[in-house]
Amino acid sequence: MNDFTTLFIIALLISNSIQFYLAYRHGKFVDQHKNAVPDAFKDKVPLAAHQKAAAYTQAKLSLGKIDEVIGIVILLGITLGGGINWAFAYAASIITSPLWAGVAATAGIFFVMSLVDIPTSLYQTFVIEEKFGFNKSSIGQFIKDLVMQTLLGAVIGLPILALILWVMDNVGSTWWIWAWAIIMGFSLLMSWLYPTIIAPLFNKFTPMPEGTLKDRIQGLLARCGFNSQGIFIMDGSKRSGHGNAYFTGLGNNKRIVFFDNLVESLEDEELEAVLAHELGHFKCKHVIKMLISTSIMSLISLGVLGWLIDQDWFYTGLGVALEQKSHATALLLFMLVSSTFTFFMQPISAYFQRKFEFEADSFAAEHAQASKLISGLVKLYEENANTLTPDPLYSAFHYSHPPAAIRIAHLNAKS
Ligand SMILES: [Zn+2]
Repeated sequence: MNDFTTLFIIALLISNSIQFYLAYRHGKFVDQHKNAVPDAFKDKVPLAAHQKAAAYTQAKLSLGKIDEVIGIVILLGITLGGGINWAFAYAASIITSPLWAGVAATAGIFFVMSLVDIPTSLYQTFVIEEKFGFNKSSIGQFIKDLVMQTLLGAVIGLPILALILWVMDNVGSTWWIWAWAIIMGFSLLMSWLYPTIIAPLFNKFTPMPEGTLKDRIQGLLARCGFNSQGIFIMDGSKRSGHGNAYFTGLGNNKRIVFFDNLVESLEDEELEAVLAHELGHFKCKHVIKMLISTSIMSLISLGVLGWLIDQDWFYTGLGVALEQKSHATALLLFMLVSSTFTFFMQPISAYFQRKFEFEADSFAAEHAQASKLISGLVKLYEENANTLTPDPLYSAFHYSHPPAAIRIAHLNAKS
């Protein structure tokens, strides 16, 4: 225990109090507005759907609070409670190579953390999603997904972790620049491989059939000068009733993916407008901007870790005994604890994300019909039971998309 322990506990208390306060405000705001559909949506969204969205929001908020408490207990148990000391001492007693003992202890801690998440995830899927009619998954599917995710995490995560720890141990004081280059190269590779190798492990992707919708979409792509490796429909309905559309991949390996539920529920012109919005993210260079800002942030983070790694107080302050001081424990502590200190930057990144959403909406209004994006979005809000009345402070902190009313007003001005 030292001053850093105090600082850590204060940061943990403040960040979680803010989280709880925001969730409380959001719940109260949604509740106060549940008996009337906001004016902008009056003739589009029925009151019953508006109230369903309110109840769904409350249910998710309650689970979120429990999840947060569990997260705090686990984090404190692993750090100040001595979990890391125990795991690294145990790994060193059965594995002779210090590198692999570090990999095993780190992986073991992440594995335990993911086990702890299972009950919440089960409750989310089979109680909340079920109750609101969104769950389409079975226990068998759930277990299969869990096993696949764990195996994939091990196959991809363990070699990269071992490589980074090796670099930390062998390259000297500039290790963090090398580690950064490895992480960046690796994440670019993963983004490139994701659409063709990883996503198909979990879902089936069928090329969009020939017809009026495909013609319409290809017309839009041609108008915007966009190259892609194809337009696919994904069987999202095998797990959930929530619909979505996204772009994935990099360079010439880009794919456009529509969830099957979305294709079912939106008209062709609405789908075209939704896709025009997604294209806007590419054409306005949001993807590149995000990539650059993430890479700058990770370089800074690794630079900070490069300094922390030599400070004894960093280890002892977070409950790690000096005999367990190693590059592996430093890296693990950093991964576990940094979000407690960077939490306060969340509204800044959320602000930029919302700015990008407005830009993509403007792009969509130019290249497709704004009125169709509006009607498509209203259907999506209703079908996904997204609240139309979020608390302003909560949404400023958490929302990556502008709140419904503000977004629609912006689009209305463009149409
Ligand atoms: Zn967007």
